[in-house]
Amino acid sequence: MSANNANHANHANQKHNRDQEVFGEAHKCYQCGKCFAGCPMSKVMDISPTHLMRLVHLNKIEEAQKYNTIWVCVACECCMTRCPQQVPLVEIMDLLRQKSFAKIQSGESDGEESIQNVVLSHKLFLGNMKTFGRIFEPLLAAMYNVRSMDLFKDFEKAPSMFFKGKLPLTPHRIKGIKNFKKIFENCEMKAKNENKSENQNENENENENE
Ligand code: SF4
Ligand code: SF4
Repeated sequence: MSANNANHANHANQKHNRDQEVFGEAHKCYQCGKCFAGCPMSKVMDISPTHLMRLVHLNKIEEAQKYNTIWVCVACECCMTRCPQQVPLVEIMDLLRQKSFAKIQSGESDGEESIQNVVLSHKLFLGNMKTFGRIFEPLLAAMYNVRSMDLFKDFEKAPSMFFKGKLPLTPHRIKGIKNFKKIFENCEMKAKNENKSENQNENENENENE
């Protein structure tokens, strides 16, 4: 194994251990339901944060990634404020999202139908940020409607938003956009290398087990 590969493998191992530590925090959950009771997004979640913590506790990580709950969570931290056990729900949700997104990016999974549009909106949002350094709402909304094949979604809201000055006609790029793009590129490269090393590790483990 080359020094470079060994370095990546080391990184992947460290990340794997960190991830396990974060998921391990779910064992503190005693299913009181306080997080769910205070969650502002609970009505649009297909399973509750309480149920999700149970799945993580049981190490059903793959299953936990199938629900839209991880994508509609807005990271408001209300659940964590209410939790008597200090379970880091937001961190756990974030990690589940990262894992699910990595699989979709690598083509390993298409994502469940219910989360495809949520993932699409995340991708377009980040793409918009990378291009302009801030959101250019008209382009983001137009791209989302075209790509999700729901051309007139929220169309009726456009006139009032326009007259309130919320829909600019031209984008504004932030100063230092080149450096901003570099941050994105470095993160993308890092994530790519980590995923590659994680997959290599998994394959090596599978081969050893055979
Ligand atoms: S952080 Fe997510 S799960 Fe927790 S209350 Fe907010 S939206 Fe709900
Ligand atoms: S509030 Fe905390 S202990 Fe109660 S169900 Fe939610 S995560 Fe578990």
